[in-house]
Amino acid sequence: MPVDLFENTLQQLRSAFQIMKLDDNYAKILESPARILKFHLPIRMDNGKINIFEAYRIQHNNACGPYKGGVRLAPQVDESEVRALATWMSLKCSIAQIPLGGAKGGIKVDASKLSQGEKEKLLRSYTRAIAPFIGPDIDAPGPDMNTNPQTMAWMADELIKFHHGDHRWKAAITGKPLEFGGSLGRLDATSRGGMYIIEEVIRTFSLNKEPNFVIQGFGNVGMYLAKILFENDHKVIGISDVHGGIYCKNGLDINALIRHYEKEKTLKNFKNTESLSNEQLLELPCDILIPAAIENVITKKNADKIKAKIIIELANGPTTPEADKILETKKIILIPDILSNAGGVTVSYFEMVQNLSNFFWSEFEIKSKLKPIMKKAWNSTILTANKYKCNYRMAAFISSIQRIVDAIKFKGENY
Ligand code: NAD
Repeated sequence: MPVDLFENTLQQLRSAFQIMKLDDNYAKILESPARILKFHLPIRMDNGKINIFEAYRIQHNNACGPYKGGVRLAPQVDESEVRALATWMSLKCSIAQIPLGGAKGGIKVDASKLSQGEKEKLLRSYTRAIAPFIGPDIDAPGPDMNTNPQTMAWMADELIKFHHGDHRWKAAITGKPLEFGGSLGRLDATSRGGMYIIEEVIRTFSLNKEPNFVIQGFGNVGMYLAKILFENDHKVIGISDVHGGIYCKNGLDINALIRHYEKEKTLKNFKNTESLSNEQLLELPCDILIPAAIENVITKKNADKIKAKIIIELANGPTTPEADKILETKKIILIPDILSNAGGVTVSYFEMVQNLSNFFWSEFEIKSKLKPIMKKAWNSTILTANKYKCNYRMAAFISSIQRIVDAIKFKGENY
């Protein structure tokens, strides 16, 4: 049976509700997304035939501010997945203490099978479908799997057209190219934020000065993280993409690997490395394992075989609740996704602020504004873990749930 992502989210939420003894009335609100939009988008393909694409926008909670969350293009997209991701977005914005709520979008498609023209038609059609329900003060989509500045530019352009050429609306779409209202530092924001968390982890758990890293995923998050780690003299000994991984016990030259990948479109046959499967990669002995690809990769089937000392989740939902329990008994420290990957949405928030004020910040300003936000989120997780004597996933959940519930209470009841 495939793992149902929203079932996982519910289990995580309910465990946190129990530990924090949350009033059941508020628990109900957090378990139910405010709005679920589902579309069937007809697209004329290059071969002349019309294909119908299933697509979603799910707005989970906006107690702390407008909904915010990425749009992913992936074959496994369904309501459960988008619901789970929308819920985690509310928690992520809350733990980062940025004034936003949570939402997520998705289109069920294997993006690698689309031509550039088909992809553009699909993204524009999706934007027209969600246009009446989004805006900088309502809901702001951003990037996620298989999107990039180009896809976000199509979305922003389509939204501007929908609003009769009014450029202010581009603030509702983040991850745009710099030439079209994007922010410096957005491309590597999730990884940069993850790096600030890694620094805290190394400091807090007194790891040796040269911990080694294994990363699953060589897309936006995995590739930039590998690059940042390499630039900071850390050793990445294993890395993978959807087709499998490579391993080098002395550490990979990441800049050379990026050049190899750009040329060959594969990680395979990179000098002085051994090939291995994604399953083997996750089980490599290492100090820090970073899932940065897809969800549900650490499950009850392989959790017992994980040999990393610490797992830092940069992908959303890479570990199932059953696996969490196994890892805890093995005393493997797990730093949860909603905390570790909050850098992406934080710089998306910076992009919105810059768009709305029509004034842009330097990369230095972006980094120096991101770091304290990640540190504050880390500190609040550690404090909560100490207060409730719970693991870091539960601590991050409790801390963010508390903020959302406080916002709901302040607004008063109108139910
Ligand atoms: P991406 O599409 O740029 O890259 C995904 C990577 O995962 C690719 O290297 C791909 O080959 C690999 N992959 C795909 N299927 C795989 C499989 N079955 N097994 C192993 N590897 C596989 O996506 P991304 O933006 O890097 O996102 C990666 C993860 O990080 C996702 O869970 C996403 O939700 C999360 N995330 C992304 C951002 C962001 O700003 N992009 C922010 C927060 C969280």
